[in-house]
Amino acid sequence: MSNPGADSSLTIAVVYPDLLGTYGDGGNGLVLARRASWRGVGVRLVQANSGRPLPTADIYCIGGGEDGPGITAAKALRAEGTLQRAADNGAVVLGVCAGFQLLGHSFPDSADRSHAGLELLDVTTHKGTGRRAVGDLVAVPTPSAPRRAADQPLPPLIGFENHSGVTTVGPEARPVAQVVTGVGNGGGDGTEGAWSGRVFGTYLHGPVLARNTSLADLLLGWALSTSDGPVALEPLDDTDELALRGERMAAVERSGRSRVVRWFRGLRP
Ligand code: GLN
Repeated sequence: MSNPGADSSLTIAVVYPDLLGTYGDGGNGLVLARRASWRGVGVRLVQANSGRPLPTADIYCIGGGEDGPGITAAKALRAEGTLQRAADNGAVVLGVCAGFQLLGHSFPDSADRSHAGLELLDVTTHKGTGRRAVGDLVAVPTPSAPRRAADQPLPPLIGFENHSGVTTVGPEARPVAQVVTGVGNGGGDGTEGAWSGRVFGTYLHGPVLARNTSLADLLLGWALSTSDGPVALEPLDDTDELALRGERMAAVERSGRSRVVRWFRGLRP
């Protein structure tokens, strides 16, 4: 079978892993790099630490972190402007938790003072008033979620969350999924994540692309798309990744978080 994208090359940048590396989200860059190279795509994976110019890349992965480093990262990214320019030129941007929050209009510090985001996604984050959202997060993509192809909706997204921020999705962005276990965006509408164009934000750690390889392939398809449209990537043998998903879902079921058990039995959540 010919391998779409095999004559392409991609630069993947993990943004400021020295600031936003708390939750292992740097693994998202590794997953993208491996899944691209297994398909014959040339890959350069860059760990782009803070304090130096951000490289130009096809895909940027921004991870989660504490409030202070999130603010430092947003200030530096706003000041240098490379990420906004790259996104305007069609680069793919994945933001996780603090990385998701800083893609929006504003996000809070620990005292709920508002800090300016990068304005790449129509989302706004405030400090939640309830308990910190910590634990397994499972969410089912909504009809407005992005698709790998018309007939390939994303399967349920799984991972874990750990945040106090509550994110509201504005009309220029769309939520990704509906939560069946956990909190997600936390604004009371049961949504998780947001996306617009080629910018994708989520509260899912795991790393999210290790737990949800179909999402990794969606982002790779965006990055490899040509003027003829998105590239349909050749499937990979995901036996190990699917076993990990099964093991994590079994753990969620064992934890007694029954809404997800009901959902998986085909009942209404
Ligand atoms: N500090 C942010 C919050 O608590 C983000 C946390 C994270 O990235 N996991 O909402």
